[in-house]
Amino acid sequence: MIPLADRLAAVVPSASAVTSAAAKALIEAGADIIDLGVGEPDFDTPTHIVAAAHEAALAGDTRYPFTGGTAAAKAAVIAKLARENRVEGYTPDEVIISNGAKQVIFNAFVATLNPGDELMLCAPYFGPYASTAAMIGATTIAIDGAEKNSFKVTPDQVERSISSRTRWLLLNHPANPSGVTYTAEELNALGAVVARHPHVNVMSDEIYEHIIFDGRPFVSFAEACLELRDRTLIVNGVSKAYAMTGWRVGWGAGPAELITAMTTVQSQATSGVCSIAQAAAVAALEGPQDHLAQFRAAFERRRDLVVERVRTIPELSLAAPGGAFYAYIGCGQLLGMMTPAGFALENDADVARYLLNDVGVASVPGAAYGMSPFFRISTASSDEVLAEALDRIVAAIGRLARR
Ligand code: PMP
Repeated sequence: MIPLADRLAAVVPSASAVTSAAAKALIEAGADIIDLGVGEPDFDTPTHIVAAAHEAALAGDTRYPFTGGTAAAKAAVIAKLARENRVEGYTPDEVIISNGAKQVIFNAFVATLNPGDELMLCAPYFGPYASTAAMIGATTIAIDGAEKNSFKVTPDQVERSISSRTRWLLLNHPANPSGVTYTAEELNALGAVVARHPHVNVMSDEIYEHIIFDGRPFVSFAEACLELRDRTLIVNGVSKAYAMTGWRVGWGAGPAELITAMTTVQSQATSGVCSIAQAAAVAALEGPQDHLAQFRAAFERRRDLVVERVRTIPELSLAAPGGAFYAYIGCGQLLGMMTPAGFALENDADVARYLLNDVGVASVPGAAYGMSPFFRISTASSDEVLAEALDRIVAAIGRLARR
C-alpha cells in the first residue's frame, strides 16, 4: 500500500458525494431510491448557454486560457458585480475565474492560511470549508446558529470567538444547508465586529444569491460593508443560478494581492478553467436572465411544500429556509428509538442510514455540516418526488419503536 500523507488524517470525502455514491450503488442494484442527497438544480442548463459553448469550440476557442480567467469572463463578472450587487469598479486583477466556487475557496485557503491559523465557520456550514482548511493544517472554529433563530449567527458570537489566529470569517448566504439569509443590517452588524479586528477577513460565499425567497432582496456582503472591501473575498459561480454544476466555473473577487496569490496557486495546480466552459459562463452572465425567476419560483414552491409537510411530522423540526434548495431537518426526537431490525438510532448518521435502507430516501447527516442531530434533504426535485419522499419518511418513522 502506498502510504498517505499525514495531512489526510483530518480530511474526509465530501459527505454528499459519499451519500450519492451509496444511493447510486443501491439504484444500480435495482433498489427504488429517491436521492435527496445531491446539491444541484434538477433543471438543464438553458439552451442559449449550451449554444455559446458550441460556438466557442467551433470558433477555435480551444487553447490554454489565461490562468486567472479569460478577459471576457472577468469582464462579465465585473459587470455582474456592478449590475446585480451594486459594487462598482472591480478591475480584472481583482477577479479570478476558477473551477467552481470550490476551487476559489481552495485557492484562497492555500494562499492565506498557515498551519494553526483559524477559520471561523457559521454552523451548520458547507462541509468542504472545514475539510479544505484541515487539508492545509488550519483549524476551524464554529459558531452555532440557533435553529429557533433560523440558524443566524449573531455579532456577539463572532466577537467572542475571534482569537489572535483568526484569519477568516466565512459567511454563506443563502446558506447550504440551512437556507439562512441575512439582511443588509445584519451583515453590517457582523461587518462592524470584523472591522474592529484588522487581522480578520471575510470570505462571503454567495453561490445561492439568486435562490432567495419571500420577495427578499439578496444583499452581497461587499455591498453591505463597502468599507471592508480590501478585506473581503466574494465567492460565487454559475453552478446553482444557471443550472451549470457540471461546467465548473466559479469566481472570486477581492483585493488584487490576494487574487494574484490565488492565481499563482491555480497556475501550479489546474491552470485556467476550460475555455469553452468560460465562454458558456459569459453567455450565462450576459444573456437573457428570465429563467432565474422561473427557477426561483420552482424552488420556493418546493420549499413551501416541504416546510408545510415536515411541520405535520411531530418527531421532526424545520426552520423555514429563506433561500437555497435544502431543508435542514431536526431529528433529535428520533434518537434512542429502535428500528424494526432492532438497532437503536444513536445519531443523525444512523437516521440517514435508516431512511436510506428502510425506505430508500437518501439524505446527508447533519454531522457533515458541523451541527447535529439533523439531516439535510435537497429540495431540488419535482413536487411529486418530494411528496413521495416525505410519505416514505413518515412511514419509516412510523416503524420505529421507543426503547
Ligand atoms: N459553496 C456552497 C455553499 C455550495 O453549496 C457549493 C455546492 N454544493 C459550492 C460552494 C460549490 O460550488 P461550485 O459548483 O461552484 O464549485
